[in-house]
Amino acid sequence: MSLLSWLSGSKANTNPKKKAVHTTRKISSSCPYCHVSLEKTPGRKSKCPHCGKDMYVRTTQKIFDSHLLTKDQALATDAIRENAWNGLDADVFRTLIQSRPHDKPTDVLWNYFQKKNLEMMKRGDFQALKMLNYSMALFLNKEGRDHRHCLQAAARYQLEQFLQEGFVGNVHISVGENSCCDACKRNAHKVLSLKEAIKDLPIPCKDCSHVIHNDTYGFCRCIYVTDRFI
Ligand SMILES: [Zn+2]
Ligand SMILES: [Zn+2]
Repeated sequence: MSLLSWLSGSKANTNPKKKAVHTTRKISSSCPYCHVSLEKTPGRKSKCPHCGKDMYVRTTQKIFDSHLLTKDQALATDAIRENAWNGLDADVFRTLIQSRPHDKPTDVLWNYFQKKNLEMMKRGDFQALKMLNYSMALFLNKEGRDHRHCLQAAARYQLEQFLQEGFVGNVHISVGENSCCDACKRNAHKVLSLKEAIKDLPIPCKDCSHVIHNDTYGFCRCIYVTDRFI
């Protein structure tokens, strides 16, 4: 089973499409940090000639009043695009950041994730919790922070979902498809009971060295699968 099909469940596409709100936005070509006007609007990520900071280009985003974004704004923008399944979109996020104008967009986003996490826990929706915690792990990894507690929570919620669905058999560990690291290879084809898996939580592999966005913390892509999917 591919990671994509593992992540997307029947609930992934059931959110009704929100009505698009059209807003008129001024396209600014000034640096998002020092606000000095730029002679030429960059077409891709580049350094501001005045303050030297990295400016990110996101031409289709509808959250900020410029195509030129700070790193923090770009991180939040990208994460929002990947989280439409849990009700997050540009309109929702614009409203959230307007209500907390002194907070960094990534902090506003993290706060949203935590609220959703609580709501899903109250509902006992393990499939949604698995997807949300995986998204949170990716987001932390992109920010250069340690994501492994969220990745472990996503894997644990997968097991809880199996239990909730009445599955009582063994689980297999499926390692990252093409480029799994040596640490993850040791888990290849490992079979354990659902109870053992919940007790030991063998994935994510602690020593995984697979780099996706930051090279400090490997991002393990091992997943649990049951006989039903093999
Ligand atoms: Zn600047
Ligand atoms: Zn690995």
